Amino acid sequence: MLRNRLFTPGPTSVPEQILLEMASPIIHHRTEEFIKIAAETLENLKYIFQTKNDVFIIASSGTGAMEAAVVNLLSAGDKVAVISGGKFGERFKEIALAYKLEVIPIEVEWGKKLSPETVKEVLAKNPGIKAVFGTLCETSTATHFDVKGIAEVVAGFEDTVFVVDAVSALGAVPCLTDEWKIDVVVTGSQKAFMLPPGLAFMSMSPKAWAMAEKSTLPKFYLDLKKYKKTLAKNDFPFTIPVSLVAGLRKSLEIIKSLTMEKIWEEHRKRAEATRQAFKAAGLKLFSESPSDAVTAVVLPEGVEGDKLVKSLRTKYGMSVAGGQDKLKGKIIRISHLGWQDEFDALTAITAVGVVLRQAGCNIDMEKGLSLAKEILFTSEK
Ligand code: PMP
Repeated sequence: MLRNRLFTPGPTSVPEQILLEMASPIIHHRTEEFIKIAAETLENLKYIFQTKNDVFIIASSGTGAMEAAVVNLLSAGDKVAVISGGKFGERFKEIALAYKLEVIPIEVEWGKKLSPETVKEVLAKNPGIKAVFGTLCETSTATHFDVKGIAEVVAGFEDTVFVVDAVSALGAVPCLTDEWKIDVVVTGSQKAFMLPPGLAFMSMSPKAWAMAEKSTLPKFYLDLKKYKKTLAKNDFPFTIPVSLVAGLRKSLEIIKSLTMEKIWEEHRKRAEATRQAFKAAGLKLFSESPSDAVTAVVLPEGVEGDKLVKSLRTKYGMSVAGGQDKLKGKIIRISHLGWQDEFDALTAITAVGVVLRQAGCNIDMEKGLSLAKEILFTSEK
């Protein structure tokens, strides 16, 4: 019997305590009992978002919150800048275009860095940009963006808000929403939150609310004003997935007891061990600015990425991600997100090494593994 091992950058593994919580009998969402669960959950969400502002829960995948950001902030014909260095930056562009907004693209070569200076130049050259959309971890290329630096730039523009897609990064890498002055942060349940897919979360700064007050784009289910009104009573405008919220309460309790600092450090260590292992084995990383949420390894010439991913799943029950769009077949992506420990990191490195050897690659995985062990186990726990 194969053991199901999830190393995809979402969905990620869900710990037993959370699974059990979600298996509790269903209660009605407008009862005192559920409102109590919701109150605790909504309060603790602020901790993982590192914000004092309200965090909204929407029953959708992460893309729902991305769309909510667009339709709640903007008005017909508004000009927006979209940073795009991969599939998910592209998605913000697609959403903005679906609502017929004027998009100024800030294109970044996939896997490359973006200097906040570039964003400053674009904003200075194109007066009237209402919002800048960016990504904290571009999952398709495993690239970390300097959201802190970009937020500092955007904060200097009084009438422009900064929206960050942190779907694959919040809870894995630092995202100091208030301190960095990020106006809107969106994320989803199936990554660092250690939950199944199905919930999206988003924070809104006062500057974002001021813009939302004037927004005229059409909206109904995603109208955050409805969510704000009910939030005051720890309630939701529509039937909320009660089981997922029960799981979320548990997940946030675990996260809070561990502390964000410790969780960020553990992600960093697993990512660093993975990066160093593959480099020592003789392979290259795809990104020049690798994220601690996920690692993308460039496959050697002649190796078919899709076959490798399939072989890991069918032979060993291990799920990793291949490349998307133009990177299809060319890279392999290993997630460090959520409920994983040092031995999981070693397992992922070992398994990918094994199938690469089976595919005929001459790599020194032993060297890589011994370096990974050093990185994972030498520092204090
Ligand atoms: N943005 C990023 C950075 C992501 O990694 C993902 C999911 N992989 C999304 C957006 C979309 O999220 P969802 O599939 O939950 O809609």
